[in-house]
Amino acid sequence: MSDLIVGIDLGTTNSVLAVTLEGRIKVIDIHGQPTMPSCVGLDSAGKLIVGNAARNQLIAAPDATVVSIKRKMGEEIRVKLGDKEYSPEEISSFILRELKIEGERQLGQPIKKAVITVPAFFNERQRKATQIAGELAGLEVVRIINEPTAAALAYGAGRTSDETMLVYDLGGGTFDVSVVVVEQGVVEVKASHGDTHLGGDDFDDLLVQRAVREFREKHGVDLSANSAILCRLKVVLERAKCHLSDEPFVSVREEYLDGQHHLEMEISRAEYEEMIALLLEKTLTCIHQSMQDARLIPKDIGKVMLVGGSTRTPIVHRLLHERLQVEPRWEINPDLIVAMGAAIQGAIIAGEKNYSILVDITPHTFGTTTVAVRDGFERLVCAPIIPRNTPLPASKSEVFFTMYDNQDEVKVDARQGESFLPEENSLIGDFLVEGLSPVPAGSPIIIHFDLDLNGMLKVTATEKHTGLAKTVTMDTRGNRALDVDEARRNIASLIGDPAAGVATNGDETADVETEESPEELLASAKDLRKRGEALLTKGLGADDAEEIRKLIHDSAEAIKNRDWAALGGANDTLSDLVFYLED
Ligand code: AMP
Repeated sequence: MSDLIVGIDLGTTNSVLAVTLEGRIKVIDIHGQPTMPSCVGLDSAGKLIVGNAARNQLIAAPDATVVSIKRKMGEEIRVKLGDKEYSPEEISSFILRELKIEGERQLGQPIKKAVITVPAFFNERQRKATQIAGELAGLEVVRIINEPTAAALAYGAGRTSDETMLVYDLGGGTFDVSVVVVEQGVVEVKASHGDTHLGGDDFDDLLVQRAVREFREKHGVDLSANSAILCRLKVVLERAKCHLSDEPFVSVREEYLDGQHHLEMEISRAEYEEMIALLLEKTLTCIHQSMQDARLIPKDIGKVMLVGGSTRTPIVHRLLHERLQVEPRWEINPDLIVAMGAAIQGAIIAGEKNYSILVDITPHTFGTTTVAVRDGFERLVCAPIIPRNTPLPASKSEVFFTMYDNQDEVKVDARQGESFLPEENSLIGDFLVEGLSPVPAGSPIIIHFDLDLNGMLKVTATEKHTGLAKTVTMDTRGNRALDVDEARRNIASLIGDPAAGVATNGDETADVETEESPEELLASAKDLRKRGEALLTKGLGADDAEEIRKLIHDSAEAIKNRDWAALGGANDTLSDLVFYLED
């Protein structure tokens, strides 16, 4: 029997656990329901509670309850829970741990490994934080995949017809859009864009602001500094917002909101739609950007798939229909589809064959800081090495040169972002290469970026003349306040289990992959095909051109037949030939 690898959608509002059993995807009920609120709390006895139990006490005990922690992932902050403080990773680990324990109860077997989804637009730090949360929950996180990609994978699973689709994922805290092509069962993401701070929570905040304004105007009482009342308003207005998806008007009445006056408010769907129009416009800008990146126009999009609870808002349908001229639809429950895709990815990693293969991309550009001359002045710029929307895993090198005679060291950094100004891109990490040879300025230094399937980056700098090299895995935990061992002790002291939070994989920076997976083979094949075709357009000798065409053909046949051994062979030969001819 192959390894059990579950899929987890760790959502802002709700989380879902799914698994494939005997070739079928199954969503596991947690506390009797398919989705579990991503809420963590302490009950009156100080005991940890997770899910519905925590959500139910939100109004009564806001200081002992944490919601929407996903929006804080990757930040160096501590959040209060009772009289102690926890990192976002620790809070998220409680959610994951609950899913693990409940899942094990339902399945009657241990759950040790998981694929966890994150918004495509999560940066390196946020991904790493998610991985740590998994480890703290006692899970080996075998892969982090993008939410819209997981959705596309669930949709493309077992399909034979080819199509281009747009996955629009608007949840509680984040927005993502991906352009995805399904071709012969291979799900390929062409481009992704999004905003990690845009979702239903923001819509709720706008409603809360309106209620606070109306209350002040009517009763002369300012509620804006009272966190307990704001929390109560948010819960009530979130419910009202959901009703507005089905009703043209909704009335809200909260008795003795400030202890004296009642809140009475009516909201029409039209008013609400106007309120959120600017935020929705932002999502349309992201769609435009991702279609531009994928070099597509609206008529190329065959299907628009909706994912995430906030896509139930009717105006979302209308806007997308208007702009893309395609009727958007849900073909799979939008609350569950992401976890289902993650479960499929888990099954693929575990070695099951009957599913689509996924080719994912990086939604961000990765580059390094260098000096360039502009208008006669030297200035620092960010040189892209792996451009956004490159298929993963990606491996690219660029050459840079020393600036001074006898320069004996060079500082190398890695940044993520689209700006040419280094300070506008986020720093992932940096290191120093010392002991360079004493040669005149202009000595080449090759910088190599390796971005793995989880979106984690390994950087190598090599002095070309001597081969002197330094490799650093950019582990954002090195820069952070979070001490993982300390976090484990923290968790253990709350839940009273000394083994809690001990991950099953001891070496956290070790590569998960040992041999090339189908995804890696496909990504290499794609890259090699592109380079081979570029060589053909440059004009080669007849024999070389013939050989390249044959190898590209062999590679395409191997992909069609899912023959990974043959694809590996074709890749190796094509790689040697391309390398030789490019030189
Ligand atoms: P997700 O992160 O995908 O679980 O989505 C959660 C978000 O969807 C929350 O902000 C919910 O308020 C919102 N949501 C759920 N149901 C509805 C609905 N019927 N209409 C509008 N928003 C909804």
